[in-house]
This record gives sequence, structure tokens and C-alpha cells, in this order.
Amino acid sequence: MRVTIVGAGVVGLMLAKDLASLGADVQVYDGKSSVEDGAEKASGILSKSGLAHMGVDYRNAIVNELDGAVLHAGREKLRIKSKATQAYVLDRAALASICKSEAEKAGAKVRLGSRMERQELKELAADGDNIVVGADGAVSTVASAFGFPPIGEYVLTYKAEYEEAEAEDSHSVDLFFATGHSHRFFGWIAPYSSYELELGIGTSDRGKRSSSDAFHSFTKDKEVSAMIGEAKMVAGHASIIPLEARRMTVRGNVLLVGDAAGQVKATTGGGIIFGASCAKIAAGVIMRHAERGVPLSTYESEWRKAYGADLKLHRALHNYYSNMGPGSFEALIKVSRLFGAEAFLSKYGDMDSPTKMLKRFLLRGLAK
Ligand SMILES: Cc1cc2nc3c(=O)[nH]c(=O)nc-3n(C[C@H](O)[C@H](O)[C@H](O)COP(=O)(O)OP(=O)(O)OC[C@H]3O[C@@H](n4cnc5c(N)ncnc54)[C@H](O)[C@@H]3O)c2cc1C
Repeated sequence: MRVTIVGAGVVGLMLAKDLASLGADVQVYDGKSSVEDGAEKASGILSKSGLAHMGVDYRNAIVNELDGAVLHAGREKLRIKSKATQAYVLDRAALASICKSEAEKAGAKVRLGSRMERQELKELAADGDNIVVGADGAVSTVASAFGFPPIGEYVLTYKAEYEEAEAEDSHSVDLFFATGHSHRFFGWIAPYSSYELELGIGTSDRGKRSSSDAFHSFTKDKEVSAMIGEAKMVAGHASIIPLEARRMTVRGNVLLVGDAAGQVKATTGGGIIFGASCAKIAAGVIMRHAERGVPLSTYESEWRKAYGADLKLHRALHNYYSNMGPGSFEALIKVSRLFGAEAFLSKYGDMDSPTKMLKRFLLRGLAK
């Protein structure tokens, strides 16, 4: 059995590492000439607990530590501040490079400058000894070549780095909801240090706005421009995030993981932790398939059993907040504050698993 992974993004490389460590013959193909290329298009905010589960030595990629968040809606703010570091801001290029060396160290072959086209993919998959994995991102050639169901909604993003900033709190991220600058997503300011930050915004592809247009309008927002102050923009990048999982992620000997499968938290657009977690499941199933003939379709049921409920809850929460106008969002924040949401989220907030948080919330309510 040979496994061909299409895409040397973080998820493809983590899958390659997992498979190679289990003894599989793995090749990863990517059209880019370096895994760091394009890494600056996305942010790297990852929960500490999620990173621990991912099993990659990310320490050399840490740029900043985060212990808080401020949710903005109109004139209202909800401040969440924990006593300890909850998340890291990682340098995405450094993370990609670490993942590549870990995959290669485990024995995977990474072939850069090798984009896979539809015909080549079909020829590969026609040989039953091959397993093809699409880890080729939001606009997946593998998914379209093998007729996987489409993803119903994407977020178009634009983010930029700024220097010479003066952060009020360089360990807290600011999220701006219902701003009117974008459709069905939010804007953010994430600090890299006390003088460097990133400003970004997403807008649903169901709206009529381009991400650069939304970004331009967002930078003119009174509150945002006050926070940016005299900081200088050094570079800007557009990209795309899938907002829901595909209805099917296995077809014969072809599997999808990561953004290609839509394994992304719709609330925030974060896809690394879930993508890498699903890649671990894919690696286990592929090995059991090779050794004991376990059907590859087991991947579909296993990842949905492990993470499907959380991803669905993220999607439902995203739909909920996206449909709220600025007034309702302000009111929600006000009421949440009255009911002690700041203290609860500061103590129990979980960036990845809203189901765990909900259970804690209900238990706390029952215990009262
Ligand atoms: C603005 C923005 C902010 C984000 N912030 C966060 C965050 O803070 N935290 C977080 O967890 N996630 C975040 N994400 C999401 C995260 O970047 C993705 O979920 C993650 O990169 C998905 O990894 P992947 O390996 O599945 O896909 P990708 O990183 O997209 O990698 C796919 C790879 O496939 C290659 N490829 C594509 N087609 C082919 C082909 N035909 N042949 C060969 N190679 C091919 C591409 O060159 C690419 O290298 C953000 C995304 C954006 C856009």
C-alpha cells in the first residue's frame, strides 16, 4: 500500500508524520516550492490544550501568548481574562517548517514544486494499491476531481500586519461582531507583541463584498482606527476559509482531511487543531485498512463521532451570531455580562470544544 497526500499544509504534513511513524510508505506532493510560501495569508492562534493534543513540537514557532479576549458589539464589550495562558500566536511559516521536518524525520517523502492535476489523480486512484488523501485546502482539486459534495459557505478573508503599534494589552485578542463592514463573519485584532499586531476581517461568499473592500471599510471604523493609532501597515493578504464540513469525506480509496474536508470551527475559522485531530483518525484507519482490511469509510464515521458534534455546534453558533443585528448583539453581551458570562468564560472558556463548555455550564446551573 502507498499513500499519496496531496497538499503539504500543516494538516497534510501532520498526517504524513502520523502515517510514516506507523510504518506506511507516504509521499506528500505540493505545488509550492517551499512549505513556508503563503503561510502569512492565515493567522496562527491556537489553543494551548489543542496544541498539546496535536503532538507537534511547536515551541520554536511561538510569537506571543494570549490569556484574554474582548468581544466588541456596538458600544458593548465582553472581557474574558484568564489567569493563565490559554492560547498562542504561532508564526505559521515556522509551524509549517517544523511540521515538514517532523514528517520527514518520521520517514515521509515531501515533494515540493509538484502540483497534482485531476488526470494524474484519477490515474493514481485507479490503482487499488494506492490511497489518495486530499489535504489540498479550501479549494480542493481532489474533492472536485472525485465528485465530493460541495461546501455550502466560505469566508473570504483579508488580514494585514502592522508595526509601530501601541497595544493596550499585548496578550489579549479583540473580536468585532456585527460591525456592518462584512457579511456573516467578524473582524479581529491580534497582537504579536506590544508593538506589532495583525488586523483582519472575514466576509461570507454569500454577501456582495470583496474581503479587501470589507477590510478597507473596517480600518475606517472609529473604534478600530483608534486602536490602530499610528501603527503602519506593512503587508496585506487575501485568503479563504471553508465554513462547514462536506457531507462526504471518503469515496473508495480517496479521503479528504483538513480544510479540503471542511473540518473547521465555523465560529472562528480555526482549522488546524480539528484538521490535525481528524488526520490522526485518518492515519489510524488507513493502517487498520492495510493490516486488517478495515474499510476506509470507517474514517468518516470515526471523525464525525469524535468531532462532528463540536463542529456542528460551532456551525450553529456561527449561524446564530451571523443572523443578529448590532442591536441584538449589544443586548446579548449586556445580558451575558449580567449573568456572569465574563467570569464563567474566563474560568471555563474552551476555544475548541463548545460541547464541553456547555456541559460545564449546565452542571454549574444544576449544582446551584
Ligand atoms: C485569515 C485566516 C486566519 C486563520 N486563522 C487561523 C487560526 O488562528 N487558527 C487556526 O487553527 N486556523 C486558522 N485559519 C485556518 C487555517 O489556516 C487552516 O484551517 C489550515 O491552514 C488548513 O490546513 P490544511 O493543511 O488543511 O490546508 P492548507 O493550509 O490550505 O494547505 C493546503 C496545501 O495544498 C496545496 N495544494 C493545493 N492544491 C494542490 C494540488 N492540486 N496539488 C498539490 N498541492 C496542492 C497548497 O499549496 C497548500 O500548501 C485561518 C485561515 C485564514 C485564511
